[in-house]
Amino acid sequence: MANSGDDSQSRPTLNDPHFEGFPEAPEIFSWIEEIVGFGVRRPGYEGDFNCQEWIKNKFNEFGLVEVKGEEVPLNIWQENGASLKVYLLDNPSIFVDVPAYPLPFSKPVENFQAPLRHLESTDFPNGDFVALDKVQLSEVPLQFFRSLATSYFDPENEFDSLVQTLPFGQRFTEVLAPAMNIGAKGFIGVLDGFPWLTKEYYVPYDGIIRDIPAIWVDKEAGSKITELMGRGEVIASISVKGRNYSGSSQNIVASLKGKEDKWIIIGSHHDAPWASAVEDGTGIAMVLAQAKYWSKTAERKYNMMFLLTAGHMSGGAGTRKFIETHNELLKDTVIEIHLEHAANECRGENGNLIATGEPECRWWFTSEIEELQKSVASAISAENLKRSLILKPDIFMEHPPTDGGFFHLAGVPILDFLTAPMYLFDKLDTLDKVDVNGLLPISRAVVRVIEDL
Ligand SMILES: [Zn+2]
Repeated sequence: MANSGDDSQSRPTLNDPHFEGFPEAPEIFSWIEEIVGFGVRRPGYEGDFNCQEWIKNKFNEFGLVEVKGEEVPLNIWQENGASLKVYLLDNPSIFVDVPAYPLPFSKPVENFQAPLRHLESTDFPNGDFVALDKVQLSEVPLQFFRSLATSYFDPENEFDSLVQTLPFGQRFTEVLAPAMNIGAKGFIGVLDGFPWLTKEYYVPYDGIIRDIPAIWVDKEAGSKITELMGRGEVIASISVKGRNYSGSSQNIVASLKGKEDKWIIIGSHHDAPWASAVEDGTGIAMVLAQAKYWSKTAERKYNMMFLLTAGHMSGGAGTRKFIETHNELLKDTVIEIHLEHAANECRGENGNLIATGEPECRWWFTSEIEELQKSVASAISAENLKRSLILKPDIFMEHPPTDGGFFHLAGVPILDFLTAPMYLFDKLDTLDKVDVNGLLPISRAVVRVIEDL
């Protein structure tokens, strides 16, 4: 398969008046700074609520109509940290006390104590025990992803040698399943195969409440625990401060009228695991950029809806709810475009993450409509968006692994842009991780695709 054909000669150039009025990169980046400034934006948190109000204000400021919040019921996980002490059964004065972080939607406990076993052990005690597992992030040669792609844009032939570290291990979000299947009453996950030192891994985020106390520890803590386990029977004492409850959040929607009574939906999610810049500060900002641009354009062929959903970090609750309640609208939807994660590639160094100055591999999940696939390929090359892969929606699973993936299952044509940097669920998703240079070209590629429709 060859690189996608480049017909950018016939298309507007970068300085074409065609794009006049499109927000500049510093403005888009300043929105991301404001979003990060709200603090942790998990469902039910004040930061997410303030972000929703701010989005409504922006939509109103741009002159969009029917700006509103639509209620989304969801499970809320509120945590206030965790702790772990592991001691020798025969001599409790020999112990390790290590920093720990609770798994979302796990069970809050105070000093739950039980013998500790490696998950792969065959010698489980009668009665309660805690399972210790290790997580290694998956590494995938980009040659492999390229082999799955419909087409790709890789002018520097980097896919030949690049290897991407994904933000998941082999079990994706099913990290607790093996421990629960063997009857463990507690879980300690060592973030062993991570290129940086962390315990703050916001996974699983499927919104499913699991009835065991569960914590993450970093690899240094993992070594200390394993060493102690080598000295005899050990007891783990776990505390998790948190609360699971049913609550609600809001999808924020707004519209612009077009000439024809059909719809283009442009979406992302407003919640996040942390005060995250990439996930999904960049997505919100790219949706706002489209909203601002199209609000100033007289030539709108179709109606446009801008959608920022709730509860991506609670099982994608917002997108599910939107699809459930807007059946009629979806029948008249020409395309749903989801924009998430304009991310810098990073490497681990001395326990930290350093941006390499290059973008993370760009995934463009595109419905199998030939004209659409061609239009996307042509927009990518016109905007010189290197490291891009055009992928069929169901290439990895039933639907694309994005907040917008459910639209594919609802039969709506989609274009889902996202990247999957290894730090996506980590506290270190900070402003330095934003692919600032990509914000404008990605946005303009989307404009080109919409104009082709
Ligand atoms: Zn996201």
